[in-house]
Amino acid sequence: MQTVSTAPHSIEALCALVLSYDPNADEEKIKEAYTFAKEAHRSQKRATGEPYITHPLATSFTLAEMKLPPPIIIAGLLHDVPEDTDRTLDEIEERFGSDIAAMVAGITKLGKIKYRGMERYIENLRKMFLSMAADVRVVFIKFADRLHNLETLEAIPPKKQYRIALESLEIFAPIANRLGMGEIKGRLEDASFKYIYPKEFEWVKELSKSSREGKQDYLERVMRLTKETLHSADLNDAQVHGRAKHLYSLYRKLVRHDRNIARVYDLIAIRVIVDSVADCYGALGIIHNKWTPLKGRIKDYIAQPKPNGYRSLHTTVFCEDGEIVEFQIRTKDMHVIDEYGIAAHWAYDEDGKISTNPTQKNRQPEWMHELADIHRELADKRTYLKSLEDLKIDIFKDRIFVFTPKGDVIDLPEESTIIDFAYAIHTDIGNTCTAAKVNEENKSLDRVLKNGDMVEVFVDKSRKGPNPGWLKFAKTRHARSKIKQYAKSRISSWISGIIPGTGK
Ligand code: MN
Repeated sequence: MQTVSTAPHSIEALCALVLSYDPNADEEKIKEAYTFAKEAHRSQKRATGEPYITHPLATSFTLAEMKLPPPIIIAGLLHDVPEDTDRTLDEIEERFGSDIAAMVAGITKLGKIKYRGMERYIENLRKMFLSMAADVRVVFIKFADRLHNLETLEAIPPKKQYRIALESLEIFAPIANRLGMGEIKGRLEDASFKYIYPKEFEWVKELSKSSREGKQDYLERVMRLTKETLHSADLNDAQVHGRAKHLYSLYRKLVRHDRNIARVYDLIAIRVIVDSVADCYGALGIIHNKWTPLKGRIKDYIAQPKPNGYRSLHTTVFCEDGEIVEFQIRTKDMHVIDEYGIAAHWAYDEDGKISTNPTQKNRQPEWMHELADIHRELADKRTYLKSLEDLKIDIFKDRIFVFTPKGDVIDLPEESTIIDFAYAIHTDIGNTCTAAKVNEENKSLDRVLKNGDMVEVFVDKSRKGPNPGWLKFAKTRHARSKIKQYAKSRISSWISGIIPGTGK
């Protein structure tokens, strides 16, 4: 099993971990962020009774396990500060710069989405993930944050536990999977599994433990033999590890195989990590030469990667004493990518920003495609999404996502104004709106909205109807047609008032 980040971490351990993959990391800055967050959260405790700082620290620890750049680690330490303390985003910007402040702002906005019925929540989350496309780093922080919250769920009321676990299992884990973050997906699933199917969880846990215990000596022998065989065939750098299957994925496999653990061959897989793709095939040949492969169990995910980008060679063999053992063969690069997916794919520049195209529009098209796929999958799952039209990537590319004060997300075309927002909520709100606030500041109704704005509209119930002058800045077809419709009905009722028999 992988080490799980539930043990209390220290800031020293975090810095040491970051320095291990980025020797140039600014350790002082990380410590400064830690001190700042600790001070800001000083009067708060987690539901577990621990000081609050244990949570951002654990979050950043997961981010560091993903080998993410220092600014993301810093943003992880600060991620709950503006939401939960009296320290503001402005202070964060002043001390840590605008880039880190922008990541923290992104997380704070995600936190503003409140739960009101599962379907609604899912819809909102789905939209939020899309709006986060501009900065995928925020999604990583959100995953790490969620993981720690899940791993410390014991302390909260059962109803809430179930809700958070279900969201994690149904929304976060599939998204992590789509993004190729196998390790994060496995941890999210296992931590949720316990709360969603407690009996099955206990059953699988025991089953996995007892079958592994019985096999420990055997596996060590096979790993030693594998290593010797590979090394004597000149694959001197080959590493060999045993890897226990994550519990939830084991559970699903058991369900598919009549709950018969004897039929699950990859309960413990042996991982062989080599230097190059050629060595992967070389290692496969050597293993097959030593042990007979099972028919139809050789999978070449290098020539044909899984849709989420997963690459490895898999084979199952009749091993020592006729036991069945699965091998997974891959390069070091494939290994890192399997665990952390797109987080590992990307090159980061010195500031920890994703370094590719400088223009926003062309940034990371693969990421946009991934999101389009997620968007589609989630929509398939839930039938409430009526129009196929808005699933198209070229459409949501030009869209912005704006919040209501209650945390609902409204999506609008780019260049939309407050009046479009008002009509998007409800025709009556559009017809009677008189004033608005954007991000808590008064703004006129022709104000053009930006992605992530929080908009509050004020209505005057005594207002007769929309002002035809709004057509000058209403951008959406919906708002324009409502304004025109109202104007028309006014004119026709006015005409019918003076010329009987006309109008409606
Ligand atoms: Mn948090």
